[in-house]
Amino acid sequence: MKAVVFHQHGGPEVLKYQEVPSPTTAPGKVLVQVKAAALNRLDLFVREGWPGLKLQLPHIPGADASGVVLQVGDGVDQVAPGDRVAINPTISCDRCAYCLRGKHNLCVQHSILGEFEPGTYAEQIVVPAANVVQLPHHVTHAEAAAFSLVGITAWQMLITRGRVQPGEDVLIVGAGGGVNSAAIQIAKLAGARVFVVGSNAAKLSAAEALGADVLIDREKEDWPKAVFRLTGKRGVDVVVDNVGQASWMGSIRALRPGGRLLVVGTTSGPHFDLDIRYIFAKQMAILGSTMGSRSDYATVIQMLFDGRLRAVIGAQLPLSEGRQAQELLAGGTVYGKIVLGVDS
Ligand SMILES: [Zn+2]
Repeated sequence: MKAVVFHQHGGPEVLKYQEVPSPTTAPGKVLVQVKAAALNRLDLFVREGWPGLKLQLPHIPGADASGVVLQVGDGVDQVAPGDRVAINPTISCDRCAYCLRGKHNLCVQHSILGEFEPGTYAEQIVVPAANVVQLPHHVTHAEAAAFSLVGITAWQMLITRGRVQPGEDVLIVGAGGGVNSAAIQIAKLAGARVFVVGSNAAKLSAAEALGADVLIDREKEDWPKAVFRLTGKRGVDVVVDNVGQASWMGSIRALRPGGRLLVVGTTSGPHFDLDIRYIFAKQMAILGSTMGSRSDYATVIQMLFDGRLRAVIGAQLPLSEGRQAQELLAGGTVYGKIVLGVDS
């Protein structure tokens, strides 16, 4: 089969589109013909590598995909060849105490598809049968691929971890990005008033189209001060900040006393010098989150199927252009998910 692979860590130039051995199915697993694969920042981090990361090379990146079942392994009866499926990108052992309690993303062997094992930038992939969900015909493969990782991530962050309540004020820092696009919609569905801080009018109007109630242009005003003013000097109940280093001070200022700061990532850098007095004086909670349980995935993907949430797709390229797709993602100019279409 054809796949996008890298033989060494580095910049986008290490990505090659080439012939690789096709995967074979195994008991409890399914072989899926990939129809669409979506990009995530994780793919860039894996390609660049980090200290201690030991991958079997060449490595196929990619966490998100949707496709058609080609073969099923022994013991698999929930899907059959020919079924259209969406893929949950959370990989877990299914045996540890956390998995047995349904907390798959706390699994001692938790990982993400394409992180430590072969990913989705390929014509075929083998995944555990428990990771596939039947995809209804009215939902496209591109939509399912574009929604899966950001959907499960935003759902667990806001609902399972953040426990957002009707009537609360939720501030989302950054109008672009897949997780934020899902987070705006989910916070709105949860009954919150949604504030979005963005860097330009186009991104803010896209956020408004997804349901954002209050738009703040950070190029035009000091945004924590604007939040203070717009909430009657109170601050918001919840801040979602995956920008990190560059914005955390503003996010802490924008929180009300007793507020929650939710974090699933950091696009501007991981280090932040935090004055610990803010944590207790403001009685704030910092809640980290990553991926979600199988139940979180089932819930959020059903909402996509029901049309209550939607995928935001910014660009579609053929699989052979995996390198160009990653360059587009790194450039940050595309609003919405970048999807690789696999035609074969
Ligand atoms: Zn486990």
